Amino acid sequence: MQSRIYLDHAATTPIRTEVKAAMEPFLERGGFGNPSSLHSEGQRAKRALDEARAIVAESIGAEFSEINFNSGGTEADNAALVGVMLANRRRGEHLITSQIEHEAVLHTAQFVETLGFEATYLAPNAQGLVTAEQVAAALKPATTLVSIMHANNEIGTVQPIAKIGAVLRDHSAYFHSDAVQTYGAYPLNVHELGVDLLTLSSHKIYGPKGVGALYVRDGISIEPLIHGGGQERERRAGTENVAAIVGFGEAVRWMLRERDETTARMSRLRDLLIGLIRERIPGVILNGHPTLRLPGNVHFSFPNLDAESLLVSLDLAGVAASSGSACTSGSIEPSHVLAAIGTASEEHGAALRLTLGRETTEEEVRETVERLARVVIRLARV
Ligand code: PLP
Repeated sequence: MQSRIYLDHAATTPIRTEVKAAMEPFLERGGFGNPSSLHSEGQRAKRALDEARAIVAESIGAEFSEINFNSGGTEADNAALVGVMLANRRRGEHLITSQIEHEAVLHTAQFVETLGFEATYLAPNAQGLVTAEQVAAALKPATTLVSIMHANNEIGTVQPIAKIGAVLRDHSAYFHSDAVQTYGAYPLNVHELGVDLLTLSSHKIYGPKGVGALYVRDGISIEPLIHGGGQERERRAGTENVAAIVGFGEAVRWMLRERDETTARMSRLRDLLIGLIRERIPGVILNGHPTLRLPGNVHFSFPNLDAESLLVSLDLAGVAASSGSACTSGSIEPSHVLAAIGTASEEHGAALRLTLGRETTEEEVRETVERLARVVIRLARV
């Protein structure tokens, strides 16, 4: 049987062995305590939470008190948008975001509109870029929050977050960025980026699913989404998922050690994959920015091919890939990101996202191109 090649790391990554080992004691006798309990079992869990919070804070240049753990990127985005708009209504009722945000921001912005707020959705250019000038032009005195993702999960375009942050320094609006896709790829520092809120998720950096964090700069009021006990400084009620948070912290520790080297290797393999696909399959269109691009992201449109047939055939050929957009009940929805950059029409054909990971090898990259070329030739005949 041919080996499977997993090229969907933007969707999720496997938990590292070391992360799983770090989590295990907190699922068992001795480590299962509730961090709010005063006894030794509880205090051991509390110390583990504190250690994870310290490493996540350090990883983005934040303070310990500025990290709020939660159930992942989606919740962090919801908490940022809904929480800031509701708590700061008196500052103004206008929100700025972009048309190519992850659904966790986009659909939340639409929900925020139903609460009586106004939202502006900035259009990206053909390469998926949103500029600081666009943000500056959209600002109003009533703008309370600007939310622009750090890098796009479909086409991989990396936004000029520090430039947008610089524009917002002279405005009262808060700045949120969804950094789920960049956290494992680049050094992030909240002060250099000029952000007030930052979304992080564990399962894209080889940690467990269902856990993430929202950085909220000290002094910003935010209305909790979940009410109950006083956990997470009264910002997110509910007994903490200690084992998952410990796993998240351990994944961050390893990410910090290996990130620069992994990013360099993945960028080389990404460029090799892009070059080989262009060479073997003429007529393909690269989506996203040629250089301001996530290290592991390759995204092509294949004119005259059907997206679903391409993905299913590739899966049968042993390659796990993605169209980069939601695939529900067997049918692939048109991507709002491709629609916004103008490559979602019928003539652009099938979209294919291949995202590399820390264990992806050159041999796998070359083998993927061989399998892809065979699939494309067969589908073109059909
Ligand atoms: N934001 C971006 C940019 C993402 O890529 C994802 C994951 O697909 C999310 C948010 C959601 O994160 P989570 O799966 O942790 O809820």
